[in-house]
Amino acid sequence: MSRVWNFSAGPAVLPEEVLRQAADEMLDWHGSGMGVMEMSHRGKEFTAIAEQAEADLRELLAVPANYRILFMQGGAIAENAIIPMNLMGDKRVADYVVTGSWTQKSQKEARKYAEVNIAATSEASGFTTVPPMADWKLSADPAYVFTCTNETIGGVEYPFEPDLAQIGRGGVPVVADMSSHILSRVIDVSKYGLIFGGAQKNIGPAGLTIVIVRDDLLGRAMPHCPSAFDYKTVADNGSMYNTPPTYAIYIAGLVFQWLKRQGGVAAIEAQNIAKAELLYDFLDGSDFYENRVDPACRSRMNVPFFLKDEALNDTFLAEAKAAGLLQLKGHKSVGGMRASIYNAMPLAGVQALVDFMRDFAARKA
Ligand SMILES: *Cc1c(COP(=O)(O)O)cnc(C)c1O
Repeated sequence: MSRVWNFSAGPAVLPEEVLRQAADEMLDWHGSGMGVMEMSHRGKEFTAIAEQAEADLRELLAVPANYRILFMQGGAIAENAIIPMNLMGDKRVADYVVTGSWTQKSQKEARKYAEVNIAATSEASGFTTVPPMADWKLSADPAYVFTCTNETIGGVEYPFEPDLAQIGRGGVPVVADMSSHILSRVIDVSKYGLIFGGAQKNIGPAGLTIVIVRDDLLGRAMPHCPSAFDYKTVADNGSMYNTPPTYAIYIAGLVFQWLKRQGGVAAIEAQNIAKAELLYDFLDGSDFYENRVDPACRSRMNVPFFLKDEALNDTFLAEAKAAGLLQLKGHKSVGGMRASIYNAMPLAGVQALVDFMRDFAARKA
């Protein structure tokens, strides 16, 4: 067996330890005589798996007691509709901070359910930065302010937590799409009304959506909101109103245990800083490659970069692949290259990428 260095933006690399444990437990989970995929979601074995996963996530992110953790389906794109359906209540307007492809999509979908006010946008910069909170123009009475704290495609990450109290609007709930950097850095959950993300970037398999929601925001769903997507219904039923994505929850739970063995979120954040610095320092020191994101807002998880001679792109990708470095092609809307270096990507993988890039540049320059 040989494993490559996988820089995919998602679904993405998982810790090898987790995959090995899942393989060991595939046919017989803990002497139950069943694999996890074969278990009733209401049986005692799976109930224990789901409860442990939720408790570990709560511990890792220090989720306060007045927040509910929901295991849902539909991915982050479905949440773009589920969120306004649940949070508009008796308000008319929702505010959006547009920082790239994902928030563009989010605000567009929300227009089916709400009047959307674009509170700020970094479009004029080509989505290479995050507008400072002092420049956000919130509407008079928004139901919430929607943000994406890591734009996976553009490689733009908030260098601050969107704490509206700092601009005198602490009463408005902040919603954050954290799909591609949840659990990569320490956050203060109490600053948000709702945090959500698809699991397939930094947590586990596709099919699981994590929602962390403050309990006073439950119970406001529009009458036509599907019951399976009404946060209160999901919360009241312990995420088992409908059959949850059981195997994805199990793998996510193994990843949470792995993260705890790494020392938790603060420890993995230190590793993520080291990995990102290694790659960005190399890019900045090179006249062969470049990253075009505002240095203050560069993502630690998704690093887009360009070869200054774009005619070499195909050769670069082919040689990288031959060297065991895969999934480096940039998103079609941005072009160039992108290396996603999530929690499960070790420093050695980033070092292998930098070594290859240095050698490639020396040969082609
Ligand atoms: C990947 C991604 C999405 C889309 O997730 P789906 O699971 O495909 O719905 C949305 N937002 C962000 C920030 C992402 O990285």
